[in-house]
Amino acid sequence: MSWREIDEQYAREQRQRLQEMTPEPLFEAPVMGRKWCLRCGRRPATSILLTAGDMRPVLPLCTGCAAEWNLHGYHALRGIRPRALLRNLLWFKLRHPLRRPSAPELVQDVRNLLRWVRKMKALRRSSA
Ligand SMILES: [Zn+2]
Repeated sequence: MSWREIDEQYAREQRQRLQEMTPEPLFEAPVMGRKWCLRCGRRPATSILLTAGDMRPVLPLCTGCAAEWNLHGYHALRGIRPRALLRNLLWFKLRHPLRRPSAPELVQDVRNLLRWVRKMKALRRSSA
């Protein structure tokens, strides 16, 4: 490995570390395509929370849950109960197997949400 490569690798690792250490604040935007609310799991989403930096999708919200978000901010996200959410998502798919979002789309949306939740939890632990 040349010095230049070592240097580039170092810079890459630093960037990665910085990204892992930076909190990702969220903002609300109109939802693109068909999504299901991942806060209650009971209604179609009308808006979506994106990360402010690189606009990664985090949490699709229905009108009721978006109102909670506007009132309580991040506290509204603590009300998410993973078990109840998964049960509601499953129930939605059983009743409407052909309706979008499809099961793989839902799984991807849940993954996007978990990525953010895990990161924020890790940050809170390291700053405590
Ligand atoms: Zn909702």
